[in-house]
Amino acid sequence: MKRRILAILTVIGILGISNTYAADKWLSIRSKNFILVGNASESAIRRVGRTLEEFKAGYGILFPSAAQQLSPPITVVVFKDDASFRPYKPVYQGKPANVAGFFQAGEDANFIALTADTETPRVIYHEFIHAMTKDTGTPLPAWASEGLAELYSTFEIESNGKEMLVGKAIADHLQTLHQSFLSVNTLFAVNHASPFYNEGTKQGIFYAESWAVMHYLMLSNNRQRQPQLVKFLSLVATGKDIDDSFTEAFQEDSTRFEKDVQEYIGRFAFPAVLFKLQSKIDFDKEMQASPLTEAQSLYYIGDLLSHMGRHDAAEAQFQKAISVDANFGPTYASFGLMRVREGKRDEALQLLTKAVQADSNNYMAHYYYAFMLQADADISDKSRFLTMRDHLKKTIALAPAYAPAYDMLGYVSLVSAEELPQTEEILKKALNAAPGKRELRLRLAEVMIANNEPIAARVIIAPLKNVTDDDAVQRRAESIADAIQRRLDNEQAVRDYNDRQRIAAEARTKEEAESAAALRNAKRDETSDEPPRIRRNETTTPADDSSTVETATIKLKRPAGREIDGALISIDCSKGMTLRVRVGNGNVELHADDPSKIEFISYTKGVSDFVSCGQLKTALPVTIIYRAGSDPRFLGQPLRVEFTDKK
Ligand SMILES: [Zn+2]
Repeated sequence: MKRRILAILTVIGILGISNTYAADKWLSIRSKNFILVGNASESAIRRVGRTLEEFKAGYGILFPSAAQQLSPPITVVVFKDDASFRPYKPVYQGKPANVAGFFQAGEDANFIALTADTETPRVIYHEFIHAMTKDTGTPLPAWASEGLAELYSTFEIESNGKEMLVGKAIADHLQTLHQSFLSVNTLFAVNHASPFYNEGTKQGIFYAESWAVMHYLMLSNNRQRQPQLVKFLSLVATGKDIDDSFTEAFQEDSTRFEKDVQEYIGRFAFPAVLFKLQSKIDFDKEMQASPLTEAQSLYYIGDLLSHMGRHDAAEAQFQKAISVDANFGPTYASFGLMRVREGKRDEALQLLTKAVQADSNNYMAHYYYAFMLQADADISDKSRFLTMRDHLKKTIALAPAYAPAYDMLGYVSLVSAEELPQTEEILKKALNAAPGKRELRLRLAEVMIANNEPIAARVIIAPLKNVTDDDAVQRRAESIADAIQRRLDNEQAVRDYNDRQRIAAEARTKEEAESAAALRNAKRDETSDEPPRIRRNETTTPADDSSTVETATIKLKRPAGREIDGALISIDCSKGMTLRVRVGNGNVELHADDPSKIEFISYTKGVSDFVSCGQLKTALPVTIIYRAGSDPRFLGQPLRVEFTDKK
């Protein structure tokens, strides 16, 4: 029964929405950083676009690193009034929430939705600041991130766009601060897991005090403390202890600092600061307006609803959009992407295939098409990786600032072992443009390792050494650091091996020269009765290809010893056992007098049961654990040979 009622309501909802469309003219206005769409008047949409561009430019004055173009652009939906906005508001306790606007962040897209006839709500500026700061070089600690977002949330443009006002006091925060106060040390230690942190409500002492401290550091005494703040944040970002960074940056202890902040709060007169906007940018001129088709406006609303997690409502919009215009690609892209998030992979792939066929200029469609192909890609299916690579390159050509495409391109290159040097160059450029993208940094380091540049890779991941707010990034950075260390150990082992061989060869040459000289002397002096010199026979019996390697009983625990990664080229079984392994650009040999002491273990489907003595048809990736020996001809004595999937 309940379900039927819901179904009827949904139908009514759809009808209601479509009636709205029939009556409304929807417009699209493209500004530098925003795609504004809506049923509000052109002048109202332009005004919203101008305000948001001014806000972004104003923020860029104090933080020039934020001046780069936003990626992806933010989609702003401007409703003409509250009645047309209501069906798309976030639902709170079963009803549309009482908000004048909201910011919907997403992995691939950010949205702002608001009515044209109200002031931009604080929450939009707050979340907008987050969207701008998350891509900058050094991630901010929680208090600084929230403090900045709150500080800018009261942003106002004055004097007809010539000045901006930053730092208007927030009454709720002041009230909270008069009731309680956290020690500065506690405040600075708050992270996203902390009970003080509640992004949902943005209330409580953490938000209030983060705001106050940021206000104090940014705006007090003619902004004299601002350089100290910048210094403090960069010290903390490099992993320096909070206490030490504090003393070094602020030149005083935290007790003194706390007193200053409390005094500042107690004054009740938070200075709001007017900044002159150097040159009034004529955002209006940059904005291009065009009417939206019905399918386009349905698509934009569907995309917004889908990112809000309102999948049923979104689907209704998408279906309608397709029925109105079956050739509009973005609908398939966004609909398909929603299916990706729902885990409906077959449907997702179908929709995304249509998306790339219908509209080759939609970067999202190409990206998510590749994304879906990745989901069940078989490592051995080269053609699939080539298709993925094509679509990722198209994505990058269409949207050079869209980082996930670079990340996946790196992945494809690593898995298929194709175009690795070219991919490294592409990733380097992308990271240069957005040094705060940690995934990109990690991926570039992986590609560099594959390209045999462990030292450079180490430099690249160095800034991630002290990441504490993201476990996944931290773990991946550690495992990359391990891989780098193994590479370097390998290289060192090969260098040592080559040195020993060179020294041994020099010794042999010297010995031979001496014995030749002795022979000449002997010929001259036929009376010598020195015994004939015995030459060691160094020719080996040819390897028998049919003989197989018997392996020692496998012990689960790895034996203690050094490790080296490489590709096994041959197994010489003539005198004990000699393994020839390609490591980097050179070869090394390992030898055991008693082959039964060597364990052979396979971690890959490619090697099972046995391997033959002799030259291998194809070199096999191995990790060899060995004990260093004194024989200069060999790297050491192999204890265990592990066959792996590594390249
Ligand atoms: Zn926040």
